[in-house]
Amino acid sequence: MFKSVLYKGRRTAALILALALCFAGCGKDVTLAQQSAAPQSGAGAVKTSSATAPAEGTEAGFVSLTDAVPDAVLEIRYYSTFNFVGERVDGYEQPCALLTREAAEALRGVSDSLAEKGYRLKIYDAYRPQTAVDHFERWAGDPNDTKMKEYFYPELEKTVLIPQGYIAEKSGHSRGSTVDLTLLDMKTGRDLDMGGGFDYFGLLSHPDFTDGLTEEQLANRQLLRDAMIEGGFVPLDTEWWHFTLDNEPYPDTYFDFPVSFDSVA
Ligand SMILES: [Zn+2]
Repeated sequence: MFKSVLYKGRRTAALILALALCFAGCGKDVTLAQQSAAPQSGAGAVKTSSATAPAEGTEAGFVSLTDAVPDAVLEIRYYSTFNFVGERVDGYEQPCALLTREAAEALRGVSDSLAEKGYRLKIYDAYRPQTAVDHFERWAGDPNDTKMKEYFYPELEKTVLIPQGYIAEKSGHSRGSTVDLTLLDMKTGRDLDMGGGFDYFGLLSHPDFTDGLTEEQLANRQLLRDAMIEGGFVPLDTEWWHFTLDNEPYPDTYFDFPVSFDSVA
């Protein structure tokens, strides 16, 4: 019941809030109710301020990693064109990383413990709206668009990405407690060599893949994995960079607000 009321959307929440305040008899809130009923586009549109209508991510307890884990470096690949799609992914409106407060606090602990060893977290992705996952599926269904094949799936035909589970209609990232990341060496300022890049579709990305990897690459993967598990995250057996908070607060909820600072304003 709580969840269903909570996630009916920002506009509904704004309207309920405005009506509640209106019943309280405040003249300012009559204006709010009028704003909610006003056209939402064109010259006459009035934006409802975040002070009166909490953003959907804020309502659900999401935070920005810029605030929650200030030491983390962000390289939000789906906001950029350097990802398997080759263009900015739908739903990524700003190059920020959002997570549930619980996941962000756990990640802060990981960041602090690794900082003592000379490493920083580098975040590729965190909360991912359903809109973005839908974009991935649309892209995967177009066999002619292979412009990023040489970087992300050189060993595979694009047509196997859905059947083999690389692209799916839902992602755990949409639940808000999953993060994709690697480590930076503070001495050199460079990424640790993990023996394979983020979002490489193939066996090379399996954390336990050893064929051809150096001792150093394997140790680097293990360093990230151990720190994340110690911090309360669960690894994935197909992607060395992907971790989900154990006991995530929304195990069954797939959110769809944009990746934007406005979503957690
Ligand atoms: Zn992931």
